[in-house]
Amino acid sequence: MRKPFVAGNWKMHGSKASILTLVSDLNSKIAEIGDVDVAICPPAIYIDYVNRVLAGNRIAVGAQNMAEEANQGAFTGEQSVAMLKDMDCNYVILGHSERRALYGETDSQIATKVDVALKAGVTPILCVGETLEERESGVMESVIATQLDAVLDVVGIESFDKVVIAYEPVWAIGTGKTASPQQAQEVHAFIRGKLSGLNADVASKVVIQYGGSVKPDNAVELFGQPDIDGGLIGGASLNANDFIAICKAAG
Ligand code: PEP
Repeated sequence: MRKPFVAGNWKMHGSKASILTLVSDLNSKIAEIGDVDVAICPPAIYIDYVNRVLAGNRIAVGAQNMAEEANQGAFTGEQSVAMLKDMDCNYVILGHSERRALYGETDSQIATKVDVALKAGVTPILCVGETLEERESGVMESVIATQLDAVLDVVGIESFDKVVIAYEPVWAIGTGKTASPQQAQEVHAFIRGKLSGLNADVASKVVIQYGGSVKPDNAVELFGQPDIDGGLIGGASLNANDFIAICKAAG
């Protein structure tokens, strides 16, 4: 039985003042949520501040990216996994489509980062997903398979029970266009089936989140699909009421 997991990706949003309000609201409402793992992923500069405001409650903190290099060195502007751990950060989003498209991150770099995160004991949230053009031209499954294979080749299937996968159709991120529950389930089943071909036990344990314009009013139906184990939430994670409602839907 997989435990649902909902993570909020704040992207490059927030200030000390807005974070204090948002996290205080989450603190006061978190008891309403059932048996669901919850994480929030602020911009790196606010990770420590968020942890202080959370004051040890059950919401975990994640980063939105990290360096390929595990420790420290001359890598201006980067944060290492060792630094994330040092700041009590338990998750890291890797391979988000914005990192792939805007910053040119390659499958091979993402695979290295997943490996580095796993070796350090930080749980990677590995994002995969197709563009609208890829979906419409019928190469969706091969695109997602290629993204997964790059990571599988480096870390091996046995490590995948420590990887969270987020299926995020690029055309649904921040656009207000959500994949229908059936469209999302179809891809989640494809991902689990692919992993199952390598190791059925691991595949049955892997948490696969859906991400792409999840809102309180579509979350219940999406999370009700058999292979959807929660969500990676962008815009709606910046509103405490919406994020809590989405977390409740996952329970
Ligand atoms: C995301 O950025 O991972 C995301 C899913 O964004 P949104 O929920 O805003 O579509």
